[in-house]
Amino acid sequence: MIRSVKGTHDILPDQTWRWRKIESSLHNFMQKYGYQELRTPAFEKTELFVRGVGEDTDIVSKEMYSWTDQGGENLTLKPELTAPVVRSFIQNNLGTQSPVNRLYYMDALFRRERPQKGRTRQFHQFGAEVFGSEHPEADAEIIAISYNFFKNIGLNKLNLKLNSIGSEECLNNYRNELRNYLKPFLNELTDTSKKRFKNNPLRILDTKIEQEIELLKDAPEIGEFLTNEDTIHFEEVKSILNALEIPFSIDPQMVRGLDYYTRTTYEITSTALGAQDALCGGGRYDKLVETLGGKPTPAVGFAAGIERLLLALESSVIESNNEVVQVNIIGLTDIVRSHCQVLAQELRNNGYSVSTDLLRRSLKPLMREANRNNAILTILIGEDELKNNTAQVKNMKTGEQTAIMKNKLIDFLAGLDF
Ligand code: AMP
Repeated sequence: MIRSVKGTHDILPDQTWRWRKIESSLHNFMQKYGYQELRTPAFEKTELFVRGVGEDTDIVSKEMYSWTDQGGENLTLKPELTAPVVRSFIQNNLGTQSPVNRLYYMDALFRRERPQKGRTRQFHQFGAEVFGSEHPEADAEIIAISYNFFKNIGLNKLNLKLNSIGSEECLNNYRNELRNYLKPFLNELTDTSKKRFKNNPLRILDTKIEQEIELLKDAPEIGEFLTNEDTIHFEEVKSILNALEIPFSIDPQMVRGLDYYTRTTYEITSTALGAQDALCGGGRYDKLVETLGGKPTPAVGFAAGIERLLLALESSVIESNNEVVQVNIIGLTDIVRSHCQVLAQELRNNGYSVSTDLLRRSLKPLMREANRNNAILTILIGEDELKNNTAQVKNMKTGEQTAIMKNKLIDFLAGLDF
């Protein structure tokens, strides 16, 4: 037997209805904020992620599913969505159509991480990006969308952690200071961190090595390097969030593991989750459009994990699957079978969900099945009913059975409480 690849999962029928609920809630919710959906291909040129996400990030340096195709192109299954969305924004000249572009997406992503609860190698995210505004209202809108979506869908135990990592100027000063701080400890760093020290010392802050985490405890914090404008921007983001009554805490260590961020960074975690408690992450990336070859365009966005959201919902909300087949049609003899199919079709055309038997079973197992599936009605057709143009309609809740003329059936169903 061939099994699925490690770290990938089937979403089985007893779960797909929960996914659809999230999906339809998201479409409705994003419509309220005036965002439009964008869909990008499952794979892109590898270079897009190397340039967009950053060569020294964990994602690009060790987690991508990349290959060279038959034509010699280096391709990669999407490990994140911001770079593809920015690529599409530039390629399709979306920025010329309107000064502000609000986009959202929902998609499958691929990262070769170590699988554990809440962390898989194929997972799904939804997210939003707004292009064209450098103002704090845009940051606050993105944060509010993610926070309010989680609230709206029934999550309560949310923590919003916020930071500002400043503009390019601040980041450059900070990189130098971090290097100065780490220089005396260079020999104690892992090879990866030594490489990062040279190219991109900020990424050393993503380390999972205990000894390095300890070393970094006394490192300078990025907040000390914010420029005046950075500080004003950050203060305004905070004040809008306060006005919107969105609670947050400041996490001065949060830089997030992607190279493109500038100024605002944030994360929403849930105490309903275990070790992998991040529901969503995002922030501002004012340089990325330019880095990927577009006109300088400020932007801010977030991405949220759907599997994580479903895990968190499991422990806080009681839901039920209301997708039941309403009507079961049972043919009692062979000659009524095609008649049953025609009746089923007619009822479906009138808006009912209808199921017929495909195994030519007898009445007893079919009634048992209808009960098990919580069918609301069962319609029985035998030779007599065929002759008399009637149908026996059984209410599965009350057990009551009524003979109805075929031409009155639709009216009869319309009068019932489905
Ligand atoms: P990131 O793109 O790394 O900022 O992640 C954004 C969100 O995606 C996280 O907060 C998680 O909810 C989710 N996520 C990231 N990586 C994984 C993964 N390997 N498996 C499941 N969910 C993930």
